[in-house]
Amino acid sequence: MTPPENKNIIEERKELIKEVLEAYPDKAKKKREKHLNVFEEGKADCGVKSNIKSLPGVMTARGCAYAGSKGVVWGPIKDMIHISHGPVGCGYWSWSGRRNYYIGTTGIDSFGTMNFTSDFQERDIVFGGDKKLFKLIEELDVLFPLNRGVSIQSECPIGLIGDDIEAVAKKAAKAIEKPVVPVRCEGFRGVSQSLGHHIANDMVRDWVFTRADKEKKEGKLQFEGTPYDVAIIGDYNIGGDAWASRILLEEIGLRVVAQWSGDGA
Ligand code: SF4
Repeated sequence: MTPPENKNIIEERKELIKEVLEAYPDKAKKKREKHLNVFEEGKADCGVKSNIKSLPGVMTARGCAYAGSKGVVWGPIKDMIHISHGPVGCGYWSWSGRRNYYIGTTGIDSFGTMNFTSDFQERDIVFGGDKKLFKLIEELDVLFPLNRGVSIQSECPIGLIGDDIEAVAKKAAKAIEKPVVPVRCEGFRGVSQSLGHHIANDMVRDWVFTRADKEKKEGKLQFEGTPYDVAIIGDYNIGGDAWASRILLEEIGLRVVAQWSGDGA
């Protein structure tokens, strides 16, 4: 049985939720109240729903698909340039907030803490931003010649206006002779940033691995494997934790051949 003092706390919290919900318009309130409840001992169904879409305009603690792709998976790849494609806000507010440490010289051969954006304006929304994107990739390659490729991280408006970033990526890859990866990670696509992780990794499979396989066939990519090789997958080197795993693995005699994606190259 719930002790009386706990009952008071539960009631207090219920009142607090009621007060918060009063601030919402009726329609939003109806949807929002499913997300808020107080846990009560012995009541199995507390009513809180998860894994459903965030409401546009309602503050949420979750990231969007773009955040999942750019912030989590692609961002830590240090020797590529990751363009936040669309208006400046998405890139600005997600700029280097995750402490993905890396070894390298920023602005020369590493770009992890830099923010690149196509800075969409109204005219780009109306007339499309494909030409601008292509020009941007060419300019970046001149400014940062040691980059090893470019990823295009789509923000919501890109999917809404239907820009053909895949065509731009193919054309730009030929022009700069490096991988250019289009990532359809517009924020509205998924329930949360989780879908951004999936989309980002699918693009690695489709645009990076296929290129590597082709280069291997052509004899341009040389790699001699050993039975002691290890690839660290799914560590984003937040605060340097992938480095700790690497040291441990190397100290027991294994060879770490890749890190994905923290401090990855
Ligand atoms: S991609 Fe879309 S949902 Fe994500 S921050 Fe930008 S506008 Fe918001």
